[in-house]
Amino acid sequence: MKKHNFYAGPSILPEFTKEKVAEAAMNFAGTGLSVMEVSHRSKEFVAVMDEAIALVKELLKVPEGYSVLFLQGGASTQFLMAPYNLMKGKAAYLNTGSWSSKAIKEAKLFGEVVEVASSKDANFNYIPKNYEVPADVDYLHYTSNNTIFGTEILEDPEVPVQLVADMSSDIFSRPIDVSKYGLIYAGAQKNLGPSGTTLVIVRDAALGKVERPIPTMLNYQTHIDKESMFNTPSTLPVFACLQTLKWLKENGGVEEMQKVNIAKAKLLYDELDRNKLFEPNIKAKEDRSLMNITFIMNPAFAELEKEFLEFATSKGMVGLKGHRSVGGFRASTYNAMPVESVQALVDAMKEFESKH
Ligand code: PMP
Repeated sequence: MKKHNFYAGPSILPEFTKEKVAEAAMNFAGTGLSVMEVSHRSKEFVAVMDEAIALVKELLKVPEGYSVLFLQGGASTQFLMAPYNLMKGKAAYLNTGSWSSKAIKEAKLFGEVVEVASSKDANFNYIPKNYEVPADVDYLHYTSNNTIFGTEILEDPEVPVQLVADMSSDIFSRPIDVSKYGLIYAGAQKNLGPSGTTLVIVRDAALGKVERPIPTMLNYQTHIDKESMFNTPSTLPVFACLQTLKWLKENGGVEEMQKVNIAKAKLLYDELDRNKLFEPNIKAKEDRSLMNITFIMNPAFAELEKEFLEFATSKGMVGLKGHRSVGGFRASTYNAMPVESVQALVDAMKEFESKH
C-alpha cells in the first residue's frame, strides 16, 4: 500500500534524494566506494560540499557577504551558538512556541533577553502582532515556523535591527529576503535531508563583534575559515541535502514550492473548516502554518480521535498523531509531500464524516 508520510521530522524526502543516496551508498561518484567510506577531503566529497553551498546561495538568492555552513549538533546547538557569536549585551526574542522558549533559555546565559511578545498565554496558538523591538538590541530572534503548534510567520518581519531566525521547519518553502538577516539556521531533517546536519547562513559582518572568547567549535568563524571542514562534516547527510537542493532547482525552486505549499495547505484547511467532525487548531487564518497543519476533533466528537487515527493508518497514513503538548493531529506537508497525499487525507476525513 502507498504510504503517506506526515511525520514532522525526520520526515518525507523526495524520491530523487532517496534514490541518489541509495546509489551513492554503494558507489559514490564512480569511486567504487560508498559515500560513507570516502574521506571528507577527497576531491569527490569536496565537490559535494561546494555544490551544496552554491545551490543554497542560488536558491535563496543569498547576497554577497554571507557564508553558508553545514554544521552538526542540530538546531538546538544553534540556540546557543547564535547568542554566543552575535549577542554583545542584549537581544530581543519573540516567543511563539517550545523551540523559541528553548532558544530564549540559552540566550539568557549570554546576556539580557528582551522577550518582545509571547503567545504562551494561549498555548502558542497564535502569532503575536504589533510588538515593539528596541533599536538598541543586537538582533531579533524568531522561529519562522512553529513545528509543534502549527503557526508560521510567512513574511520576514520588519524591524529596526537584524533578524536571526530558526527556519528549521520551513526553510526553502518560500522566498526570503536574506539581506534582512544576520543569521538563519535550520536542522536539515524537515525540508532538506536526513538529521545529522544543520544549515547555517550567516552574514560575515555580523561576526567578530562580541568580546567574550568563543570555544573553537562553537565559533562560526572557525567553520567559515575551513569551509565547514574544520572537523569531519556529516558526509552522508550533506550528500543527501545536495540531492534535495538539486531536486528543488529542477522543480522550480522556492517560488514554485511556495505555490504548491499554499495549494496543499488550502486543500486541508478548507476541509478542516468544513468537516463537522474536525477543527483546525489555529483559528487565525493568517497565522496558520503551511508546513505543519494541526487539528483536533470537534469537542462534540472527541471520543472518535483514536478511531480516526486507526482509520487513517489503515489507509497508509503515517505520522499523524499530534505532539503531546497540543494533542489531536498534525499533518506535516513539507516540500517533498505530493498534493496526492494531502488529497488522500482529505478523502479519508470525508469518508470518516459520512460514517458518523
Ligand atoms: N527548531 C524547530 C523549529 C524545530 O522544529 C526543531 C525540531 N526539529 C528544533 C528547532 C530542534 O532541532 P534539532 O532536533 O535539530 O536540534
